[in-house]
Amino acid sequence: MPTLSPSPASESAPAADASSLTTAPTPPATSSVIATYEQYVVPSYARSIVLVRGKGSYAWDENGKRYLDFGGGIAVSSLGHAHPAMVKALTEQAQTLIHVSNLYYHPWQGKLAEKLVKNVAAPAAAGAGKVFFCNSGAEANEMLYKAARKFGNTQPLAETGTPPATGTRFEVITANNSFHGRTVAGIAATGQDKIKKGFEPIIDGFRHVPFHDLAAIEAAISDKTAAVLIESIQGESGIHPVSADYLLGLRDLCNKHNILLVMDAVQCGMFRTGCFLGYHRILEGHPRASEFYADGISMAKSLGGGFPIGAVWLSDRIANLFQPGTHGTTYGGTPLACAVALAVMDTIESEGLAASIRRIGDGLKACILNDRDLMGNVFSEVRGFGGLLGLELKNRTTAQVVPALREKGLLVIPSGETAIRLLPPLNINEREAQEALGILRFLL
Ligand code: PLP
Repeated sequence: MPTLSPSPASESAPAADASSLTTAPTPPATSSVIATYEQYVVPSYARSIVLVRGKGSYAWDENGKRYLDFGGGIAVSSLGHAHPAMVKALTEQAQTLIHVSNLYYHPWQGKLAEKLVKNVAAPAAAGAGKVFFCNSGAEANEMLYKAARKFGNTQPLAETGTPPATGTRFEVITANNSFHGRTVAGIAATGQDKIKKGFEPIIDGFRHVPFHDLAAIEAAISDKTAAVLIESIQGESGIHPVSADYLLGLRDLCNKHNILLVMDAVQCGMFRTGCFLGYHRILEGHPRASEFYADGISMAKSLGGGFPIGAVWLSDRIANLFQPGTHGTTYGGTPLACAVALAVMDTIESEGLAASIRRIGDGLKACILNDRDLMGNVFSEVRGFGGLLGLELKNRTTAQVVPALREKGLLVIPSGETAIRLLPPLNINEREAQEALGILRFLL
């Protein structure tokens, strides 16, 4: 049961000026930091404040203003800022061995892979699986596309029984409104036109279908199809979870047609929902839960808690498709990245943070849903789980609300144009959740 209860204003949230919450506040005076960005940095992001320091769930700007960071570096800072376990792992490993190439072994990559394999906890049908390390979510997804092509080049569709001619079975089906990264293949996989605009021609090999619609996927399957790629909780278009029945139906469909089912867990994985993977949380308690498995899973974001690292888990059936010379990346799974990610995973385990974010995040969700003022006036829906919540705005846009909340000391992330995301560290406490709730109430 949630122990959080709504409170209008916390100590750290000064009295509200309601009028300032419907219009964007005045941007900060241009500092020298901003001036150097403007002169030297490619203007591919819309930035706001200058952050100079962080501790736990808080970050401070260059003027000393404190923010409760419920953006978490966009679902990255799983232990908050400057967590001692991360600092220790970073400093100790930096003094020992920062980088070696993948032509050599080192003590941490195998250990981290083992930890991920154990947490994926795939059923016997998939086998325990194996892990490949890379540096980002988009790059992790690239390996899934390559896995689909390798698989498609050797495996027949179930109906025909004969292997296809090389290069003819390569298509990946993804969902409308999905997000899979910004590489050339990533934007092709992503089911959002605005991400592709200006980068035409979009590469061949991806087909989009309505989200959460099994019939649409079945209708899209052809002798070109090699895989279906799905986020169990769509992160960039408002936090939309799929249902357990959809996941199980998808597995059945992929089995029937001998197609890979690969999952993008970049945002919804790594305990953000209170379970290791978004689909673990969605399937919980379903009588057929143990029948579900993925053939591949991409991970990044919270994996390194802020240190860049990505990973791909592949089921036993396809892991060995990648032999020496077939795939690689210079920085994949360095001693430093793996030592830090292990420290993050160990801390989540030893401090019981999966259960904690589940209790506090679900509690915060319940409090928002039970707050008649907020639900009547500000939000129309609250979606997601634990530390991955999407708040659908009523009659307001993220362009208005995100800067307004920032002005009041709460950092949140837009998700599409009409929803905000709460992506707090997994180790937030109740007081911080309460504080966030108090600041959200300034929107009234
Ligand atoms: N997949 C999903 C679901 C994401 O949310 C993101 C990033 O937001 C990516 C892939 C791309 O990850 P990265 O930005 O690390 O390349």
